[in-house]
Amino acid sequence: MAFPLSRRGLLGAAAAFPLVRTAWADAAIRVGGTTIEALRDGSFPLEPKMIPGADSDEGRALLGAAGLPPAGPTPEPVNAFLVRRAGRAWLIDAGCGGLFGPDFGKVPAALGASGIEPGAIEAVWLTHLHIDHAGGLLDPKGVARFPQAEILVQEAEIAYWSDDAARSRAPAEMGPFFDAAQAVLAAYRGRVRAVSGAADLAPGIAFMPLPGHTPGHSGVLVTDGNDRLLVWGDIVHSRILQMPHPEWSVIWDLDQAQARATRRRILDQAAADGLVVAGMHVAARGRIERRGNGYALVDAA
Ligand SMILES: [Zn+2]
Repeated sequence: MAFPLSRRGLLGAAAAFPLVRTAWADAAIRVGGTTIEALRDGSFPLEPKMIPGADSDEGRALLGAAGLPPAGPTPEPVNAFLVRRAGRAWLIDAGCGGLFGPDFGKVPAALGASGIEPGAIEAVWLTHLHIDHAGGLLDPKGVARFPQAEILVQEAEIAYWSDDAARSRAPAEMGPFFDAAQAVLAAYRGRVRAVSGAADLAPGIAFMPLPGHTPGHSGVLVTDGNDRLLVWGDIVHSRILQMPHPEWSVIWDLDQAQARATRRRILDQAAADGLVVAGMHVAARGRIERRGNGYALVDAA
């Protein structure tokens, strides 16, 4: 997600959806000897107009069938993930921090509730540099929140958010996103490791490039023995709308055609391989099944 909305409009709308903790959000996902835990940063109201294909009779029918107002919105989470193995701790993304107001920025409290101090985080693996994923790397003073952490992110991602020409081509409301990405990179200067492609992050853990949402957008694939989990970043922003219609892109997908192709490819691969998936804007984790022309996310037991 990227929230190209006025801050006031977003926060006003978000206030209508207080944080709802689902049962699974508290449960760690086990992948062999590795545990992956969702840290809920907040929740935002996704409206059909944010997924233009869903601003349609079909979209309204899907929302209505899910027990929601047919015109939306649908409350969707902002998650980061804590990864632990044998006394080591890493993060996949870090939530919004203070950049979207008091309804967000709950990752530090969730981390504390899991018994982890910021200084214990060895590295943060960033799926991309949007504010709702990287903003939480900064404390309220704009200083690095994780004093020991190395930041691993795709080179293409750093290049895009550092590019003045890209900024001048982007809509004006994306300006704060360029500012935030650059502030994060500056705060961690000397500790940012630019990687490329399916780079190893830790033993059995690697980036999986999933470009389209942003140029360097990547998932994180955790493999331990026969178990695998893909934390797929921002492949889907609405389970209800985009699983049956993977051709529906969100307005924040920078390259809509590439995002669509990537979403189709990874959903197809996940269904074929029996991959368990989790995401930053999906309040569930599970396996993918083909359903007609689309897919369904079937909750893991
Ligand atoms: Zn996002």
